[in-house]
Amino acid sequence: MDTHDKYVSSFFPSPQAGVRDMEKYARDNGVPIMEEAGIQFLMQLIRMKRPSRILEIGAAIGYSAIRMAEAYPETKIITVERDERRYQEAAYYLDQFDLSGRIELLFGDALKLRDEIYAKGPYDLLFIDAAKGKYRTFFEQYAPAVKADGIIVTDNVLFKGWVADPTQANERMAKTAREIRRFNDWLMNHPDFHSYIVPVGDGVTISTKLDRKQGKGKEFT
Ligand code: SAH
Ligand code: MG
Repeated sequence: MDTHDKYVSSFFPSPQAGVRDMEKYARDNGVPIMEEAGIQFLMQLIRMKRPSRILEIGAAIGYSAIRMAEAYPETKIITVERDERRYQEAAYYLDQFDLSGRIELLFGDALKLRDEIYAKGPYDLLFIDAAKGKYRTFFEQYAPAVKADGIIVTDNVLFKGWVADPTQANERMAKTAREIRRFNDWLMNHPDFHSYIVPVGDGVTISTKLDRKQGKGKEFT
């Protein structure tokens, strides 16, 4: 952690009861939940955006969904998990936090639940945090379910620094890094979205839909 990160993180507020236990559970069981700085940033984004509806792809044990719900009490979250064990764990935690009413957990492959997910939309915020090799597919399938003024957030886009420099990564990690790099190249050059990669946590991209009346980078002409 560099000096800036250390300084910034010294201001992170203490979370609601139970969150630290969940983080420990994730650490002990190798569940890749969002990093502290990343989730703090996402929570602030949610306070700014005040989304009535959030779609999350990749619930894992429900950690990020619970934190997003904490950031903005009016929001309703639809979150999808395909791993049965994690889905069960997420259901358990949603109950523990008394959030089963505000966070709807769907079991299955997000790519196969299209109709159900669309029926519950549209969404003000889409958060993509599932299989890294499928990011483009998730994005293409669900960006149209996001309102014109909505935002799309993608996590792990810098993947431990290995997207920018894969030389220290093992074969498997380098492969994932290459997949993410391809996704970044695609998204950052997409004519219909403005995107910015924020080097916070494991790398978080924020995308907004381009106003049809504006050209990209031509807002003032
Ligand atoms: N957002 C969570 C972490 C998600 S980890 C948090 O920060 O707390 C990624 C999760 O996505 C894994 O649990 C994995 O099982 C799930 N996943 C991967 N591909 C998926 C798919 N196609 N549909 C649904 N879930 C998927
Ligand atoms: Mg992630």
